[in-house]
Amino acid sequence: MSAAPRPADVVIIGAGQAGLAAGYHLRRAGADFVILDAQQVPGGAWQHAWPSLRLFSPAQYSSLPGRMMPIPAGGGYPDAAHVVAYLTDYEQRYRLPIIRPATVRTVRRAGARLAVESSAGTWHARIVVSATGTWWRPFVPHYPGMRDFRGEQVHTAGYRGPEPFHGRRVLVVGGGNSAAQILAELSQVAQTTWATLRPPRLLPDEVDGRALFDLATRRHRATLAGQHPVGAGGIADLGDIVAVAPVREARDRGALKAEPMFSRITTTGVAWADGSAAAFDAILWCTGFRPALAHLAPLRLRGPSGLIGTDGTRALAEPRLHLLGYGDWTGPASATLIGAGRTARQLAGEITAQL
Ligand code: FAD
Repeated sequence: MSAAPRPADVVIIGAGQAGLAAGYHLRRAGADFVILDAQQVPGGAWQHAWPSLRLFSPAQYSSLPGRMMPIPAGGGYPDAAHVVAYLTDYEQRYRLPIIRPATVRTVRRAGARLAVESSAGTWHARIVVSATGTWWRPFVPHYPGMRDFRGEQVHTAGYRGPEPFHGRRVLVVGGGNSAAQILAELSQVAQTTWATLRPPRLLPDEVDGRALFDLATRRHRATLAGQHPVGAGGIADLGDIVAVAPVREARDRGALKAEPMFSRITTTGVAWADGSAAAFDAILWCTGFRPALAHLAPLRLRGPSGLIGTDGTRALAEPRLHLLGYGDWTGPASATLIGAGRTARQLAGEITAQL
């Protein structure tokens, strides 16, 4: 016989940085809450990132509320292991009530409450905060012929470092920070080609994630003040890729020259619209992620874009559900370490008023 559902005012799904920031502010607000996390250990998505990944902001600009991220020994931008250590310390320091492993399979309506069904039991919550991130839903665009390719296809989520690609011909696809950082190390051991939808745009050396966050803040303030969002003349016009040290080195070595996107995949490589073709042993898709929202399917909230309509973090069609940390649509810069805290503070205020 299964255990009876447990009551809770608030259930947070996910103990990555977004779930922890929500827990921090809900604790301060005196709310009764529990955090369910599918992982075995702390760290959210960061524990699965490739070892050489570097944050695009320094530690001082990558902190959750209440506790500064320590500066890494030797300086420089923190790597993924540094973030995992910080998040581990964070959840212990604030004694956040986390249950793991607890994978939430579904959230359903159950009268006045929402039923959260997980591998560790069922909770009946007055409010649910979904903070499940994106890492668990890698996105690969469709190209004709991709099933026939006889080489290897790997998404960023499965990339563990350059060693398996030693001496091989690798096509890296995607124009963002992940592609540039991976190319920087892969190009030292493999024969790399870079394909991007539009020419990649490296930010000037002196600009990093701090400026990206400042822009998100200015946009947020302008929106609150009823003005047009800031955009023109902002950082978005300067570029997309932060020139962290390995990326600068690769750029200066000439390893970051990009080709336009191919039009189809062949059995041995790819072909471009102009008839040219090239052979590859592997294709590395650095093409991003999508919000992991499958557990919310019974609520039937997704719009045509695949996203759930929100007012701030609150779902428009289900006010007992909040979404935190997936992207700007759930709060400006809320999918970044430094941005999660601000949105979480607003969320906690709103939830306290709702309860
Ligand atoms: P996650 O870290 O994914 O945490 C979600 C948690 O929810 C996980 O523990 C997961 O197991 C759990 N979960 C998922 N589904 C369920 C379920 N059904 N039931 C229970 N638990 C569940 N941000 C920065 O600020 N600076 C950077 O430099 C930076 N670089 C990045 C580089 C890359 C390659 C990527 C992909 C992202 C980067 N980000 C960066 C963005 C962002 O900080 C991360 O994506 C971050 O991991 C998002 O945190 P989160 O808490 O929203 O999600």
